[in-house]
Amino acid sequence: MRKVVVVGLDGLDWLVVSSLMDRMPVASSLASKGWAGEIEAIFPPDSIPSWISIFTGLDPSMHGILESVDYFKKGAKQFSVDTGAFKGRTFWDAASNAGKKVIVVNPLLAFPPWEVDGVMASGPVFISGSTTVAPEGAAGGLEVPPLGGIVDFPEKKELAAFCEKTKTETLAITEFTARLMETKEWDLTFLTLLTTDRIFHFFWRFFDREDPTWPGEGEFSDVIPDFHELIDRCVGRLVEAAGDDAIFLLISDHGHAMRPPLLFNLNQLLLDAGFLESRIKGPRLFSPRYLLDRTKNAVLETLHRLDLEDLAYRFAHIFPWTRKLKKSDFMTEPTANLATASSFGGTNPFGGVEISQERCRTDSLDYEEVRSRIIDLLLDTKDDDGVPYFLWAKRREEVYEGEYIERYPDILYELRPEFGTSWSVHLPLVTINPRHRKISGGHRKNSVFIAGPLDDMSIREENLLSLNLYDTILSLLGIDGENTALRSIITDDRSSRPSP
Ligand SMILES: [Zn+2]
Repeated sequence: MRKVVVVGLDGLDWLVVSSLMDRMPVASSLASKGWAGEIEAIFPPDSIPSWISIFTGLDPSMHGILESVDYFKKGAKQFSVDTGAFKGRTFWDAASNAGKKVIVVNPLLAFPPWEVDGVMASGPVFISGSTTVAPEGAAGGLEVPPLGGIVDFPEKKELAAFCEKTKTETLAITEFTARLMETKEWDLTFLTLLTTDRIFHFFWRFFDREDPTWPGEGEFSDVIPDFHELIDRCVGRLVEAAGDDAIFLLISDHGHAMRPPLLFNLNQLLLDAGFLESRIKGPRLFSPRYLLDRTKNAVLETLHRLDLEDLAYRFAHIFPWTRKLKKSDFMTEPTANLATASSFGGTNPFGGVEISQERCRTDSLDYEEVRSRIIDLLLDTKDDDGVPYFLWAKRREEVYEGEYIERYPDILYELRPEFGTSWSVHLPLVTINPRHRKISGGHRKNSVFIAGPLDDMSIREENLLSLNLYDTILSLLGIDGENTALRSIITDDRSSRPSP
């Protein structure tokens, strides 16, 4: 029977990978014997909801986990989610229950690991803590590397050391997995490397000449290409450990691109259109709130211009009200607002608008009518060249329809990639992002799918969604679930190949 190796590479981006294929011989070889390209990630393309959707085949409105990580927020390090939403319901659980032996290393947030037929090793995310293996002792005598992690938030002077540490960790986790593969019986191996995403977030601007803060050629210019070479060597090590009869799937949870250098001040748009109320009544220059907010922006923009963003970051942590400023309840009247920009997508092109049902009731407004008016407002807002800022804006029920759909904001949207959402008011609609240097890489919607060797199997183009990875993996292992045949991206059935 066929073996399957799934390598999850957090944030790996197809546009970047395809431009570096000549430096990635192992991935190229798998692609040449199979398929490589991008597939649609879930919305929003954030690591936590995306991985849990990949684990379970359920979209976030069905599994209910929509948390995202805000690197600028103090307390992000004490992050955890309720694993009850997916524990026992993942593709490796289904494989294990169907009598397959599994090796699972470092799945995001799946901590503490649980009992499987084989071995599962994971660590806590966003805190340093001890890695655990289930069942106890399943790793044999192997030394278990640190897993989970994601604790560093390097300043500029720490970047070189951060890069080295990230490489060392990546190699250690890969070697641990390869040794498990060589010493244990297995049908499915699933390894996740979270380090790709970290490298992109902190080194994007050194790599991308189009980035407005690209510093010119220098010591970090090749960090991203070099890291892709390292990842390719890691995959090579796993290919060596897997033997001949394994199919490899290299997957990511979302892609990566330049983090938006500009901010779209969505609450300003809602304020101008009368959906939101400012706390600033009367002349602004007599308002301490207004002056404080302006001072904060001026300081951040100045530090950005002077390339002193590490100071800006410390500044953000010194003043406890900066979080409030961001959430818009500092400058606006939360209870009075009919609609506000949601913070759920972070400073990204993906986001949402929350509508107050209570305000609709007290003002005898029809909720659906308010929702339509705001969607029209977003779609009709254009820049000076007449180009709309929003690529799309929809009712949340048009995106997903699971039982937890109300955890999404009422309206969902995607801005043009150069704009991230911001929450400030009393500003122009578009301002610069003064924190771009600190985290210059941001998530892109599509994710990577490289599968090979596929021999005489074929790809179903209409199934190229990361939500279908669950059924794809089970189908390759010969396990039939309810929708496996319908949803699998890869099929044995040649007749279902779409005609060219
Ligand atoms: Zn991710």
